[in-house]
Amino acid sequence: MMDRKRIAAGNWKMHTLLNEGILLAGQLEQQWHDERVDMIVAPPFTHLDAVVRLLRNSPIQVAAQNCYSEPAGAYTGDISPVMLADLGVDQVIIGHSERREIFAETDALLREKVNGALSAGLGVIFCCGEPLEIREAGQQQTYVQGQLERSLFHLTADQLTQVVVAYEPIWAIGTGKTASPDQAQEMHGFIRILIEQQYDHSTSAGISILYGGSVKPGNAAELFAQPDVDGGLVGGASLKADDFLAIANALADSVS
Ligand code: PEP
Repeated sequence: MMDRKRIAAGNWKMHTLLNEGILLAGQLEQQWHDERVDMIVAPPFTHLDAVVRLLRNSPIQVAAQNCYSEPAGAYTGDISPVMLADLGVDQVIIGHSERREIFAETDALLREKVNGALSAGLGVIFCCGEPLEIREAGQQQTYVQGQLERSLFHLTADQLTQVVVAYEPIWAIGTGKTASPDQAQEMHGFIRILIEQQYDHSTSAGISILYGGSVKPGNAAELFAQPDVDGGLVGGASLKADDFLAIANALADSVS
């Protein structure tokens, strides 16, 4: 059996008010005890302190959805990775397609954010994935390869052990349209080969690669059955405790 981590990560995006977020985290805390899977929740910034405190004695980890690259400075309105680490946040999502598209984050900026987060001691969930027109043109592998080369592959193998890759085809995010298990496996296997070529076999065998894009209780098992799909980054379905728990349980069941 491969020893890489199985991860169910919930990206709440800009959803929930504070009391709703605390309720959701509390439901997960009460019901999640399975050690075969690492559960991670990524609430909005305003909830992080409360959720970190609530989950302090649980195995559930807390991620931020974004951060800036610098530890401190004149960057009005932004949040530094050092501030997140200081709160007790474990991980940060970097390069989500909504940050890339809506907030025009570039590969070069994401590279700096990855560096800043790792320097602060945070784990990184690095998102990559192609838009529909790239998939339709059959260029998805070249596209994802470029994203990884420009923002991740400057890291050392040692640094990469603190990174989880999330493959999220943009055409499947929030659309109800999921990549087929074969499509997911094809890209995950490709990403693992790229990492092996750039680093070495043990690095590529040890890194967790998550699938994201309309993961639901009904499709989770078939996605997680794929050999290179090590878990999910879940948006919409992570806002309901029962759905997210069902997805995490499907992941636990896939561990042989
Ligand atoms: C996401 O936001 O990372 C995501 C995959 O969203 P959804 O599950 O809603 O498609």
